[in-house]
Amino acid sequence: MDLGLKGRVALVTGSAKGIGRMEAEALAKEGASIAINDLDGDAAAATAQEISKNYSVETITYTGDVTDEKIVPVMVEKGVKHFGKIDVLINNAGIAGADVGFKVIDMPIESWTRLINSHILSTFLCTKAAAPYMQKNGYGRIINTSSQNYTGGGRPNVSNYSAAKGGVAAFTRTVAKELGSDGITVNAIAPGYVETDLILGYPEPVLQTMRDQNPIKRLCQPHEVADVVAFLASERASFVNGALICIDGGKQDFYWGD
Ligand code: NAD
Repeated sequence: MDLGLKGRVALVTGSAKGIGRMEAEALAKEGASIAINDLDGDAAAATAQEISKNYSVETITYTGDVTDEKIVPVMVEKGVKHFGKIDVLINNAGIAGADVGFKVIDMPIESWTRLINSHILSTFLCTKAAAPYMQKNGYGRIINTSSQNYTGGGRPNVSNYSAAKGGVAAFTRTVAKELGSDGITVNAIAPGYVETDLILGYPEPVLQTMRDQNPIKRLCQPHEVADVVAFLASERASFVNGALICIDGGKQDFYWGD
């Protein structure tokens, strides 16, 4: 299926590695030009170079924190100046790390705030900065990153992460209704456990439980998320708007209960 991404310009946040990198690759494979953003400038530059070489597309990088309200508009403007437009925004950047693993009564306020900002504030700031350029062209695709940690009904000791990912899903549905008439679709994905650095630090027994509890009996691979995102980023997904697409092997109990 030709996704018609030739000539399109995509910004993928947090795309030096992990899921974001595979999303950038999937879009590049379909011919899109890519703006790579990440906190890690060296890794972002290396990724951009490899993608450009492997898929013969133009790439640029922007090193910076997408939770910073001063940085995000500058980043988007830089991309638009370079490529002339922005068609696709993938809000992927996000952390878990040392801020998860607390019962709510023990959770440091900093861990709450950091995770809420990491996922919701970044998604808001990037959407606010990019949407006006999309409106000008009457075309846009915004894909936000929720999680099975929300659709799965909430795992204990990650209330900040679950709340952040639930917030991303709620934001998506609302903004889809605001921007749909401008030719911009806004959707979210809810991946299950994906084999990236975000979870590979967990002890092996925990990872094995994740595999065992999944109907497909394994972890998700980053390219399995990226292929869905490439479809949502394309013209082929023109009537998909405000959706929350689960990419979790069937694990969610959001709609069906336990
Ligand atoms: P990862 O840690 O492998 O990669 C995340 C990348 O984002 C890193 O390169 C990091 O430097 C960058 N980043 C983090 N915060 C940033 C910021 N504020 N500004 C710019 N760059 C930033 O993680 P991943 O597993 O690829 O996760 C990507 C997204 O997918 C996250 O939003 C995560 O919550 C979500 N997700 C992951 C899983 C999973 O199991 N891995 C499951 C569901 C959802």
